Amino acid sequence: VAASGGGLVAYADARTDPATEPSQAATKKKVVVLGTGWAGTTFVRNVDSSLYDVQVISPRNYFAFTPLLPSVTCGTVEPRSIVEPIRKIIRKKGGEIKFWEAECVKIDPDNKKVHCQTNIRTNLEGNGEFLVDYDYLVIAVGARVNTFNTPGVVQHCHFLKEVEDAQKIRKGVIDSFERAILPDLDEEERKRTLHFVIVGGGPTGVEFAAELHDFISEDLAKLYPTVCNLVKISVIEHGGHILTMFDKRIGKFAEEKFRRDGIELRTGYRVVKVSDNIITMKDKSHVESSVSYGMAVWSAGIGARPIILDFMKQIGQGSRRALATDEWLRVRECDGVYAIGDCATMSQRKVMEDILEIFKFADKDNSGTLTVKEINDALEDICIRYPQVELYLKSNQMSDIVDLIKASKGDVRKESVELDIEEFKNALAYVDSEVKNLPATAQVAAQQGNYLASCFNRMKHCEKKPEGPLRIRELGRHRFRPFRYKHLGQFAPLGGEQTAAQLPGDWISIGHSSQWLWYSVYASKQVSWRTRALVISDWTRRFIHGRDSSC
Ligand code: FAD
Ligand code: MG
Ligand code: MG
Ligand code: MG
Ligand code: MG
Repeated sequence: VAASGGGLVAYADARTDPATEPSQAATKKKVVVLGTGWAGTTFVRNVDSSLYDVQVISPRNYFAFTPLLPSVTCGTVEPRSIVEPIRKIIRKKGGEIKFWEAECVKIDPDNKKVHCQTNIRTNLEGNGEFLVDYDYLVIAVGARVNTFNTPGVVQHCHFLKEVEDAQKIRKGVIDSFERAILPDLDEEERKRTLHFVIVGGGPTGVEFAAELHDFISEDLAKLYPTVCNLVKISVIEHGGHILTMFDKRIGKFAEEKFRRDGIELRTGYRVVKVSDNIITMKDKSHVESSVSYGMAVWSAGIGARPIILDFMKQIGQGSRRALATDEWLRVRECDGVYAIGDCATMSQRKVMEDILEIFKFADKDNSGTLTVKEINDALEDICIRYPQVELYLKSNQMSDIVDLIKASKGDVRKESVELDIEEFKNALAYVDSEVKNLPATAQVAAQQGNYLASCFNRMKHCEKKPEGPLRIRELGRHRFRPFRYKHLGQFAPLGGEQTAAQLPGDWISIGHSSQWLWYSVYASKQVSWRTRALVISDWTRRFIHGRDSSC
């Protein structure tokens, strides 16, 4: 172990795995992955670990299946059932990947090093800090809860982001009932104790509210009959509606169901302050009001982690909300650094920025004009590089490029069309309006991890045989297709064995049948047979015996 600058110790590098030959290990490029969440774990599961020296760094030595976290808050599913140790995942790949349980505290892109700090007590010099070198860095540290600097939130609200949070909420709910039932409390105090407030009407807040309602009405009402009529659940949402990321029909159904269930919806209110038993909020016209509460869960949004904010400042992305990458998930202007999942946003290049190049690319005969055939021949490559073109055609119900040209030029006959650059610009003038940011979901994170792993797996191959079997596309500039998100649909569990599902093509289904779809999709998405078996047995146990209310 060699000491290096600033009392830090080059720790991870000094450890060589006796199983791998030193010469072979030395020639392999070092890939360092930060994070064991959806993005990082999917990358690690799919990367070919015989090609690289892979090291994973995360303060959490397990992967957590976050879509089932709301179920953990009420004991529908046990915490153990939704986590998988990262070492187990690594071992399945032949044990060539190393894992260090530590937090990355600083990224140094100039020297290609990350500074790490472990919370485990060690004999390392400098407070458990160590350095790890990389050739390629995959940043997948996710996001943190955003309190929007609202006073009192950190001190008094629960969050719902990690497994520990869900466990704390479960204990909090049961403690509230035990407290409310104590003798000598006055009615007002019992009511206050049993007022559960959820801040944020997004998917997490809504699902938690629904779970809590079911837990109380199906299980706790029987155990605490004297106080169960004092319970109140409120959802406070800044916007005009809940579940705005879903189709309007789903939001409407959810609002109606909540009203029937007696869950109070306060839309159009922004929480401005939280004290130990009062939540203060303002409505749209800045009129202040407040409610007393017993327990509050804050799920109003996410923000960038300090390490990402710090890194963005270093590389001149200071004013952004998340790390910007190109469509190959490379951090802009930062050699060998990739970012995936909630910590990153992929910026889609605009057609208008490259319009001259696209024109030249399509103009195969260098005539200075484009025929319909020339455009059609180039269209596939253009759509791969600029998916917004395809989306635009689809969302405007145009069958092909001819429709687009017709729309821009007025009605013209197919064969005779020849466009000059100005006319080509006009035809494509609105396609960039289809560029949208990808949502911060597990689905995006996992697809990005998967995509990046497949790029890494082919990188060596492409270096060796640059002209290889992979066709050079993307206007000749890149050998890999850019990342493209495929939306497979989204669920919103609404309680009472009813779920809303929004599937591709805006196919909406609400009710008991989608609940069964939800069960089967979530069972199939589990990372191991062990967690799958545990989750299914938890569901079965809940059906037969109800949820456990001891804590
Ligand atoms: P995360 O999964 O958050 O992982 C980040 C990892 O980085 C963690 O292992 C963390 O410990 C580690 N880390 C943090 N800081 C550092 C550091 N400094 N150095 C090294 N490692 C670090 N999405 C859906 O698509 N469908 C759903 O139904 C759904 N339900 C959800 C329910 C809840 C309650 C929550 C909280 C989220 C839900 N999501 C859902 C969103 C989904 O969980 C996230 O989009 C997803 O986890 C993002 O993956 P990620 O890998 O970017 O980040
Ligand atoms: Mg991750
Ligand atoms: Mg995760
Ligand atoms: Mg993202
Ligand atoms: Mg031409």
